[in-house]
Amino acid sequence: MITRSSALLQRPAPETKPLTPETQPLPVQARWQTQLAGAIRDPHELCRRLGLDATWQGGAARGHALFEVRVPEAYLSRIRPGDPSDPLLRQVLPLIEEDRSVAGYVADPLAEAEHTPAKGLIHKYAGRVLLIASPACAVNCRYCFRRHFPYEENAPSRAQWEASLDYLREDATIREAILSGGDPLAANDRRLAWLVERLEAIPHLKRLRLHTRLPVVIPDRIDAALLDWLGATRLQKVMVLHINHAQEIEEAVVAACRRLREAGVTLLNQSVLLRGVNDDVDALAALSERLFEAGILPYYLHVLDPVSGAAHFDVADDEARALVAELREVLPGFLMPRLVREIPGEASKTPL
Ligand SMILES: *Cc1c(COP(=O)(O)O)cnc(C)c1O
Ligand code: SF4
Repeated sequence: MITRSSALLQRPAPETKPLTPETQPLPVQARWQTQLAGAIRDPHELCRRLGLDATWQGGAARGHALFEVRVPEAYLSRIRPGDPSDPLLRQVLPLIEEDRSVAGYVADPLAEAEHTPAKGLIHKYAGRVLLIASPACAVNCRYCFRRHFPYEENAPSRAQWEASLDYLREDATIREAILSGGDPLAANDRRLAWLVERLEAIPHLKRLRLHTRLPVVIPDRIDAALLDWLGATRLQKVMVLHINHAQEIEEAVVAACRRLREAGVTLLNQSVLLRGVNDDVDALAALSERLFEAGILPYYLHVLDPVSGAAHFDVADDEARALVAELREVLPGFLMPRLVREIPGEASKTPL
């Protein structure tokens, strides 16, 4: 749990001695970074920690070789040990199926490589531009459509950022900058504050959007340093979280969301419809209900992007439509996510 790991990281000062640099608690900033650095990156350790027997190890190792395992403790603590069908485990445990090549599943399913006018910038839709603010993620989701993304080529330095900023400055039709990744909140607050300062100096920019899973994976990421720059900007703030199952929303996540809302951030969620994770009405309804308890509105329910290694997560279109029709019978309209697909070349996400 978050509370347990934070307690471990905050070395308590001995009662009799005054605080010295050695005995002071670690600064807040180090806490999420330490958690991130300490994430499990070994498929065998992941299996061992969750009490999964040897039958899972081979697949985990093979999948890991294709796209590395990454699971922070704070996320691991929400997975039921010894249950290979746990919906959170399924999102992070590589299976042997990842090694299978399936017709139609490719490395860059969204053809993003064709839409990068500047390094780390993707401009596909009118009025909004997506910036790759960090190549790293706090968790490696096995179904990720960017699992083969050439991040090394798209992690700009400060000087390269200027080219992206120039692109935004010169196009007055752009009203919204979307920080994405990877996970933009894997970048440190100094870098993010620097970037946002430059963005808000562009007069035609109205909104700052962040696409992030970090507040869910490591809720301690929503700390004072982050709230400082995020709360201070003149831009309207939208955060699109990525949560696929109600079990991901533990109390620490609810608390992080509360801090974000107090800083003036509108919270939305996007999910991916995933076989074995959330492909039934009860799971989807519980997710929407739980999101709202945390002050988050459902935004998109994406069908899987056909990225190679993820075909075993696919839910057929007809089944997806039927699920959403059933969902509409049990949820209020404002808790209904929009079922969409991303089709390369289209001017927006496409409703199913
Ligand atoms: C999904 C996406 C957006 C945002 O689309 P919305 O429909 O506004 O949420 C923007 N740019 C790119 C490249 C995207 O893939
Ligand atoms: S957090 Fe998002 S970008 Fe990162 S691995 Fe998961 S799905 Fe992919």
